[in-house]
Amino acid sequence: MAFQQPLDQIAPSVSEATERERERQESTLGMIASENHVSEAVLEAQGSVLTNKYAEGYPGNRYYGGCQHVDTVEQLGIDYAKELFGADHVNVQPHSGTQANMAVYFAALEPGDKILSLSLSHGGHLSHGHNVNFSGQLYDVEQYEVDPETGYIDYDDLEEMANEFDPDMIVSGSSAYPREFRYERIGEIADDTDSYHLADIAHVTGLIAADVHSSPINHADFVTGSTHKTIRAGRGGLIMCDQQYADDIDSAVFPGAQGGPLMHNVAGKAAGFAEALTDEFEAYAEQVLANAKTLANVFETRGLSLVSGGTDKHLLLVDLRESHPDITGKQAESLLSDVGIIVNKNTVPGETRSPMVTSGIRVGTPALTTRGFKEDEMETVAELIVEILENPDNQTIQDRVTSTVEDLCEELPIYSE
Ligand SMILES: *Cc1c(COP(=O)(O)O)cnc(C)c1O
Repeated sequence: MAFQQPLDQIAPSVSEATERERERQESTLGMIASENHVSEAVLEAQGSVLTNKYAEGYPGNRYYGGCQHVDTVEQLGIDYAKELFGADHVNVQPHSGTQANMAVYFAALEPGDKILSLSLSHGGHLSHGHNVNFSGQLYDVEQYEVDPETGYIDYDDLEEMANEFDPDMIVSGSSAYPREFRYERIGEIADDTDSYHLADIAHVTGLIAADVHSSPINHADFVTGSTHKTIRAGRGGLIMCDQQYADDIDSAVFPGAQGGPLMHNVAGKAAGFAEALTDEFEAYAEQVLANAKTLANVFETRGLSLVSGGTDKHLLLVDLRESHPDITGKQAESLLSDVGIIVNKNTVPGETRSPMVTSGIRVGTPALTTRGFKEDEMETVAELIVEILENPDNQTIQDRVTSTVEDLCEELPIYSE
């Protein structure tokens, strides 16, 4: 009976591509700052029969029968998140970080209202008002930038912009800003201009959960996050807010922006949050930061220029223009990919090339830290990256680096023993 057959019999090509993807993850160094590897427990939760269940509504208040067990799962996800972040109210249903932001905008703004956010080319996110995204199409968006000299956000400038623009919402948070946001200062600017503060912690959800990064709770009206980046809870999003906004947020998620929640993903979130409550996870988050500092130190010593001169978190932005003016971000990404080091090209402040070419690369440590990389291994990885950038045409060096990458991957596997 087809219903009983495993994937490799029903859809062999899908099965094979999935197996290849597992091998690719095992045999390469994943340094894309937004990616990570979830535990066996999270994989188990996400691949469960919960995918079969419709549960529109919220625990104890659903539109469908038979929700007693998914109610338990969702309530645990909410309770764990409250404990991790100290939030009043939590919604774990957003299918993604973008969907979480959408729900906050729907709850707090009217179409045409004004949003002030960090520009995409300076580290912001599409869902913060870019014109190819609904957020840029529905709202009137103005964007702040980082100081091209220092690579830091200039908060006096931001305040001045806010006073002039008179936004309805100020968004903090980024995909490629290597420094912590000053949430308290942005909260004050938002208060002074009578606007909401949305803190999008997508990249740093796990760092905040582990208390190794400052928290925007109490400095922002709304906090949105991803559950698959520095926290290893599977793909998805979450929203946190004060009790006063709870009903507005919940109805903006469902029925406002989504239909039935993906209960298997909600279970993944609950499992990942439970893991994040352990001491082991705190040690993991500390190691993520220590590894990023190690990368930064080697890069600086070897003459690579870093936006803002370093990092406070899990990612670095390498500006190649000074050290390697002839290598674009796109070429660097491809050279490194050829030897099994996976990073992404990224625009840098004051970028002169197109977003498809760029002059920088973004390098992150969450995934390598998950597979057990510590300072020693990170030093080796940093040296390998520098060697490749310095010898773009040397096949002998590329072969040697490829083999070192393979050795590192075998020494520290992700899933296999
Ligand atoms: C990754 C990210 C998101 C969420 O992205 P999804 O792919 O929609 O989950 C939102 N905001 C920022 C700043 C991000 O970096």
